[in-house]
Amino acid sequence: MRKNYLLTPGPTPLPPQICEAMSRPIMHHRTPQFQAVLKEAIDGLKYIFQTKNDVFILASSGTGAMEAAVINLLSPGDIALIIQGGKFGERWTEICQSYGINCEVIDVKWGEAVKPKIIEERLKHSALNTQRPAPIKAVFSTLCETSTGVVNDIEAIGKIVRDTDAVLVVDAISGLGAIDLKTDAWFCDCVVSGSQKGLMLPPGLGFISVSQKAFKLIENAKSPRYYFDLRKAKKAFDKTDTPFTPAITLIIALNEALKMLKEDGLEKVFSRHRKLADATRSAIKALGLELFAPDASSNVVTAIGVPVNIDGEKLVKTMRDAYGVTIAGGQDELKGKVIRIAHMGFIEEFDIILVISCLEKVLYQMGYSFKLGSGVCAAEEVFLTA
Ligand SMILES: *Cc1c(COP(=O)(O)O)cnc(C)c1O
Repeated sequence: MRKNYLLTPGPTPLPPQICEAMSRPIMHHRTPQFQAVLKEAIDGLKYIFQTKNDVFILASSGTGAMEAAVINLLSPGDIALIIQGGKFGERWTEICQSYGINCEVIDVKWGEAVKPKIIEERLKHSALNTQRPAPIKAVFSTLCETSTGVVNDIEAIGKIVRDTDAVLVVDAISGLGAIDLKTDAWFCDCVVSGSQKGLMLPPGLGFISVSQKAFKLIENAKSPRYYFDLRKAKKAFDKTDTPFTPAITLIIALNEALKMLKEDGLEKVFSRHRKLADATRSAIKALGLELFAPDASSNVVTAIGVPVNIDGEKLVKTMRDAYGVTIAGGQDELKGKVIRIAHMGFIEEFDIILVISCLEKVLYQMGYSFKLGSGVCAAEEVFLTA
């Protein structure tokens, strides 16, 4: 017998209501019944995105929504400014390069947040911008850089980009529905997300919001596009319809997730995530371990430096294979050097106690020296405070 626990930054655990919703009979999508489902989903997403803009639902993982943003906003030869502080910032660059976009990259040290001032300077003095007028058309950013656990100050970035001709695109794939992101109030023109993180669903849905400023670019962009052509999506969504067969069952389940989030209210959802993250960080410090992003650690996922004598990959593998507790290791240059505990979505206090307890057990077995129970104790103390 094996009981499994999932504390990875996507996918995240599924609440029973969502599993139940996915077992309902399928319905046809060109019906009034599905139209009601779609309307509820879009209204709920606008609440979660904190926007009055259009939000489109795509049948893809989050990366599909990222690609949709690039090809709908930009044309080959356009200049994009990309904030790159980890694997997912790099993904923006890779997608843009695939479509012949010129990438001006702000390389941020992994584990640190971007300094908004640098974006301001780069927008003023674009290095690639030799033949004016060809200003930077879009700024690509990441709310929570899942590979490093860093949260970026999107509010500050929004204030800077608002005053330029560029649009601000935010990868909120991990973070949306877990930490605050005010799409409209923070001047985010295009926000992309996915289903399998804060929204507690299986993978398979991508989401993308589009401001009026962004729509102007969409109408004129010359990148090749068909399935992810947001002009098609807009035309259909305006009639509460979809251009192709939507992921019907996932959208039905999405409404359950949105109901759960709405019942709690965003403030409560954010404060739960803050508490989970505080407890995790406190436990890590009590164990004598170090946060990988001490100055910008997100409330979504905590990246932890692995002590020098401990094999990080073996640690993750043992927690999973011997005890059924799945956390994430490091990616690319961080492989074996960090472990990542996600506390996003359908996660509560005792999930954190459990994962810390398992981490302690395996660290102990691997010969790491610390006081057994000290991590759990520190987490409990955080949960006992109001
Ligand atoms: C998970 C994640 C992605 C990738 O999303 P997929 O659904 O795997 O395509 C992109 N960006 C961030 C920040 C993520 O956390």
